[in-house]
Amino acid sequence: MNGNWKYIEQRLGHTLGRSIRFKKITPVDGGCINQAWHVIDQDQQSWFVKSNHIDLLAMFEAEFQGLSALREARCIRVPKPILYGVISHHCYFIMEYIHLSGRPQQALAGEQLAKLHCVQVKQYGWIMDNSIGTTRQCNQQQHKWINFWKYQRLRFQLDLALHKGLARKHYQKGFELSERLEEFFTDYQPQASLLHGDLWGGNIAYDRSNQPVIFDPAVYYGDREADLAMTELFGGFGKTFYASYHEYYPIDEGYEVRKNLYNLYHILNHFNLFGGGYGAQSGKMIEALLSEIND
Ligand code: ADP
Repeated sequence: MNGNWKYIEQRLGHTLGRSIRFKKITPVDGGCINQAWHVIDQDQQSWFVKSNHIDLLAMFEAEFQGLSALREARCIRVPKPILYGVISHHCYFIMEYIHLSGRPQQALAGEQLAKLHCVQVKQYGWIMDNSIGTTRQCNQQQHKWINFWKYQRLRFQLDLALHKGLARKHYQKGFELSERLEEFFTDYQPQASLLHGDLWGGNIAYDRSNQPVIFDPAVYYGDREADLAMTELFGGFGKTFYASYHEYYPIDEGYEVRKNLYNLYHILNHFNLFGGGYGAQSGKMIEALLSEIND
């Protein structure tokens, strides 16, 4: 960013309607995709700034909209997005900085996520595509959840994976699975809930008042089980989180099987992003899911 901070100061000042001078700029680690900084201005106000190559501007636009949608729901604390834009070959994104140094209050996080999932609409999908990692996530709105998951989630990642070298046998089984999705939904009709969309343990933290904060979303309206499944994928969410979620909004018992269907999307995406053992892991998950409906 080096020579670009003056311009970003000006843009932020223009948006806020007051003069801004950055006094301290500190890199922040922990992101998977972007460079990030904690910036403090002349009034000791903190800002969180992310930057990447200009080609990823649409990703910031979608993140801005996603954070805005989650904030409007007023269920869980979400950083306020301020502005995004382009400077030379970079795009940048400025949002409220939140000190994420609090103690986990998992029960509260579970309850607040359940409340978020009570925000429901009629159609699955969202107003725009966004990204899952750096992979495009399609969100074309539609009324049939099974079709949504089949074409815009499972098949999208499967086709990309074939292109990236997924073993053909895994692809074929995955395709068969995508043709039989109805069998996982025989007596379950998901609601179109507002989802974070990328809710692994690295995208939730606690502010200085120990309030849960969620960030870096891949928002869409879909089956809340997809969000819950992802919380289980890489850990970080404890028993009290789930107990509290279930108390507020009980889940269907078929979740235990469907969660693997939902996490398959993320494992395929990991194969598409990182390759390696995620291909074989996807193959195993597909086999296990098919065995559930072959019994
Ligand atoms: P990336 O888009 O590269 O994955 P993140 O949005 O996940 O980056 O941010 C990287 C890290 O910065 C997070 O893991 C979190 O610790 C911290 N962080 C994210 N958003 C904020 C914020 N608004 N205020 C303070 N810290 C933040």
